[in-house]
Amino acid sequence: MAALRDTKPAGDFGRHGDDAVDLATRHLIQPWPVAGSAGAEARALIGEGDGIHITDGDGKRLIDGPAGMWCINVGHRREELARVMYEQAMQLSYNTPWYTMNAPSAELARRIADHAPGDLSHVFYTTGGSSAVETALRFMQFTNNVRGRREKKLILSRGGAYHGSTYLSASLNGRPRDRDWMDGADGLVVKLTAPNPFRRPARVSRKTFADFLVEEFRQTVEEIGAERIGAFVGEPIQASGGVIVPPDGYLKRIREICRANDILYVSDEVVTAFGRLGHVFASGEVFGLDPDMITFAKGVTSGYFPLGGVVISGRLLEELRKSNHPDAMFAHGLTYTSHPVGCAVALKNLDLLEDGILAHAREVAPYFQTQLKTLEALPLVGEVRGMGLMACVECVADRDSNNPLELDNAVGKRIDRHCHELGLLVRPLINMCVMSPPLIITCEQIDTMVAILREGISRTMDDLR
Ligand code: PLP
Repeated sequence: MAALRDTKPAGDFGRHGDDAVDLATRHLIQPWPVAGSAGAEARALIGEGDGIHITDGDGKRLIDGPAGMWCINVGHRREELARVMYEQAMQLSYNTPWYTMNAPSAELARRIADHAPGDLSHVFYTTGGSSAVETALRFMQFTNNVRGRREKKLILSRGGAYHGSTYLSASLNGRPRDRDWMDGADGLVVKLTAPNPFRRPARVSRKTFADFLVEEFRQTVEEIGAERIGAFVGEPIQASGGVIVPPDGYLKRIREICRANDILYVSDEVVTAFGRLGHVFASGEVFGLDPDMITFAKGVTSGYFPLGGVVISGRLLEELRKSNHPDAMFAHGLTYTSHPVGCAVALKNLDLLEDGILAHAREVAPYFQTQLKTLEALPLVGEVRGMGLMACVECVADRDSNNPLELDNAVGKRIDRHCHELGLLVRPLINMCVMSPPLIITCEQIDTMVAILREGISRTMDDLR
């Protein structure tokens, strides 16, 4: 999150005016607060968005480096999206998904299925990413119950993973701070090593590291027994874990082990779908995977409306239909499943992506990556890694050991604070900074972003001296 700031906003932010920060401190519980803040922390007030920019409470214009939470893919203030939301709300703002349906949700499902890899043909809509992961897992439990495999329910996930903030999805999370103070459904989840090549043991090649990960997966399945494991859930690139790009070929090898053992492969594309890697879905187009389910959210509406979902294999649905229990009910649904306004804005968002933004993202991504890579010349930077329009700058205490800096240095927050002054919002993650700008960013804007980051990191090095 943005660095703490205690200044009052100067801008005019509508009806609530200048009181917003005070009101938030007294009444708003913000996400991920620390106990000492009694729920509310003073965070940077954002008043406006426009293209790749946002304006803070002091009227300062900043590049939105993380695109919100990896989600403002087509950029802020898109009139087409605002208009479609208005028009859909005026036509039909809601319908009961239990016994009625609406046209935008059906049309969007068709278009999503057209883009999805393999035999993924059906969509279940949710309200965001956590509920999408939750839905995929409940669907796995349901299918195994229907097929008489009530023991086949364990879930494999990995260190470094982030899959959400609802109870079951959060139980899959593999970053230490997700679990330090929080409980989870531990008996249901088995954790494997984070596929992070930067943290692989010294003198081990990337190829050997990949072999180790695959072997660990295979052995875990063998030891526990495939008859007890229902699903593997993995992000193609671990996003909140620090943009971890896995070793080449590793995901496909895991997919094959899953297939051989009838373990459902759930590709969590909440971050990577809808353009972040230049395609609607990255699983097939980028990684050559054909998962049993793909979860998505965020970029599906470019953050304009809370919508997510799961694309599910037609084969799985067909097996259910042919089972001995064709009347078994997948007793799962949310009030806002298939929301007409969310689906309408997603359709327009998909038009924008297909009509040039995906192509643009593919075009500028190499420049984005190579320019950011130049930051590795700074002594504080251990690695810059990424793919498409997502990247992470990881800072280290010393480059020989690549040890992360102590938490106390709050290096990510320091860089964020300096960059904020210079006109760039970055997403700090302990000793890392994540960059995932709106996909419409130009090469010139990338230059500005990298120049600010360079200066922000240099000033941080001065602080630490
Ligand atoms: N899965 C991944 C890969 C995510 O990065 C996130 C959120 O950042 C989620 C799931 C949870 O999504 P949401 O915050 O929309 O519930």
